[in-house]
Amino acid sequence: MPINRTMPSAISPPRWARLLQGVTVICLIGGFILDAPRDHWDLPLLAVLLAVGVASDMIAVKSESLLKISGASLALVLGAVLLGGVPAALIGAAIILIGWLRWREEGHYLRNNLIAFATFPFLAGVVFHATVGWLGLSAHRPEYYLLVVPAYATAVGLNFWIVVGYQCLLDGRSLLAETKQMLRELTTSELLCAVLTAGIARLYLSVGLAGLLLVALLLVAYQHVVGQLLVSRERAEQLRRQAITDELTGLPNRAEFIARTRAALAQESAAGAGPGVMLMDLDDFKQINDALGHHTGDLLLTRVGTRLRETLDERHLVARLSGDEFAVLVENDPGRDRLVALGHTITAAFEQPFDVGDLSLEISVSIGIAHAPIDGTDVNTLLKHADVAMYAAKDGRTHVELYRTEINRNSAQHLALTADLRAGIASGQILLEYQPKVDIATGQLTGVEALARWEHPSLGRIPPAKFITLAEHTGLIRPLTERVFDLALAQLGEWQRAGLDLHLAINLSARLLSDRRLPDQVRRQIDEAGVCPERVALEITETMVLRDPARAATTLTQLHQSGIGLSIDDFGTGYSSLAYLRELPLDEIKVDRRFVSRMADDPTDAVIVRSTVELGRSLRLRTVAEGIEDIETLLLLRRMRCDVGQGFHFSRPLPPAELLGWLEAQRALARLADVS
Ligand code: C2E
Ligand code: CA
Ligand code: CA
Repeated sequence: MPINRTMPSAISPPRWARLLQGVTVICLIGGFILDAPRDHWDLPLLAVLLAVGVASDMIAVKSESLLKISGASLALVLGAVLLGGVPAALIGAAIILIGWLRWREEGHYLRNNLIAFATFPFLAGVVFHATVGWLGLSAHRPEYYLLVVPAYATAVGLNFWIVVGYQCLLDGRSLLAETKQMLRELTTSELLCAVLTAGIARLYLSVGLAGLLLVALLLVAYQHVVGQLLVSRERAEQLRRQAITDELTGLPNRAEFIARTRAALAQESAAGAGPGVMLMDLDDFKQINDALGHHTGDLLLTRVGTRLRETLDERHLVARLSGDEFAVLVENDPGRDRLVALGHTITAAFEQPFDVGDLSLEISVSIGIAHAPIDGTDVNTLLKHADVAMYAAKDGRTHVELYRTEINRNSAQHLALTADLRAGIASGQILLEYQPKVDIATGQLTGVEALARWEHPSLGRIPPAKFITLAEHTGLIRPLTERVFDLALAQLGEWQRAGLDLHLAINLSARLLSDRRLPDQVRRQIDEAGVCPERVALEITETMVLRDPARAATTLTQLHQSGIGLSIDDFGTGYSSLAYLRELPLDEIKVDRRFVSRMADDPTDAVIVRSTVELGRSLRLRTVAEGIEDIETLLLLRRMRCDVGQGFHFSRPLPPAELLGWLEAQRALARLADVS
């Protein structure tokens, strides 16, 4: 046991403690005055012991080990035995003073330790010499040296009771419990040290200071070597722990998860059973991370780790594999139903929001499960299949999926299509069609909406609803949007130069609204195309804006300040509140085509469209009805004083060349109408 010091505490000591210290100091001074004349003032010996004590204290390593020997307690006890109480107290005080100079602890901490380290060696010295005197032992008798061992124990015990007792008084802990703990921890090294002290005392008396100096040097060297050894052993252990732990959450990491799964597979396959692996990924974590910053993202991950640990039994291994991906290993062949049930337990635990700072964040999780040996007999296959199941859970919004071979087939297609889309964006397979937007009152063309088309080389035309969703889930939405902007803005420039005065609407995936670079990038693309920003509008789906209103508001404001128009698409599907809409810098709302296309037949839809048009008017927003397929709908909308219409009744989305033809035909019709 290394010698005990009091530890700095956050609070300064109470009054009674200061009083106790004062009384102790007065008693000590009195004791010193009485004892000093009886002590043996051998200054060279005092200097050597001082040096040993200080040197040993400086290199001491805090560690629980049989190997450690405290040269500091040895020097203190030798001081007490060979020199007496006051010199021993001086050695103790020197150890503390030099330690304090080195580590610069608080004042009251220095005071506590100075008093303790003057008291216990002093008492040990006084007790030793009183006993020796009482027994009438001279230094040449063997019993004299035997007494060094109890002296050592007295010093160490006093050190413990003075320091720990004081601390227990301050913190209200039980000294008895601490003492029991100390007695339990007393190791053979303590006994060894006591015997060594007795041996050195004997050596000194027979060979003198040179012998003691030699042993002291050896001792300090030994302590240093052992200290280094312990440090490197502890460091190795720390490194080993680091290598298998995820730093952020403190959970086991991927390497450890794989190792433990491999071990479970080896063990259980011998018994014909197998463990289950659950892979989970937080839904839309990236958006939270982008919108609220990495610090919040990290805190959320930590909370998720804790929630998982609390939810699951200790037998299950919970690990963080990477980013927002966690995994659970369920050993002892739980069975497929039990695994799925466990998955649902986890998703249920995610229904409570997570408190992160002052925020309360709601996040859901998608879980994929694979069970050995049916879904794989090695770690890689199991993880791959759990991953496939997890993506199926995400895509289908089912939250928990057990691996099935059909999923794998779907996911193979999914992967292939993703690769094709990536190549398609780069090689110009994405084209645009333009659908006219018409002024309902005058029948004049006011602008067009650009709609993306993907002509797949072997699969033919893929509907945008499919490939846009795919792009949104695979990180391809950014390059795809850039491509759409390039094409649409170049087309607008061409029309402008041909004297065609059109407004252009481009659809923007709201997933990009959390991207801080978006406003600058859009502005740059508009500048490069040499078009007027006032001619460009962005359509953003209502439900998507609602997911992260704060971040959306910032981005939309920046875009709006550049002169770009903003439109809320598919309005009526997201239950936006009026108050919230007023916060956003909007120019237009587009009533969702599901309401418009049915309004001629369904009075409820007609009411929804009418109230939306009125809401738009009261907020001074332009209202657009999309999905107008017939003249009845158009007439109804005209009566409601809806501003703009769009739909198959006017035109389907058209390639640029056909749009010009459509425009010619419209003009010809208008001229005919004028003539008649
Ligand atoms: P949206 O923005 O609501 O686009 C209007 C959709 O309604 C288009 O479908 C259009 O063809 C269709 N439509 C127009 N008039 C009528 C009509 O009278 N009746 C019916 N039944 N449908 C009509 P499309 O082209 O299949 O696009 C579907 C969705 O894909 C779009 O819905 C939009 O959300 C998304 N999208 C298309 N292009 C892009 C793009 O470049 N970027 C992004 N982010 N999304 C896009
Ligand atoms: Ca749109
Ligand atoms: Ca729409």
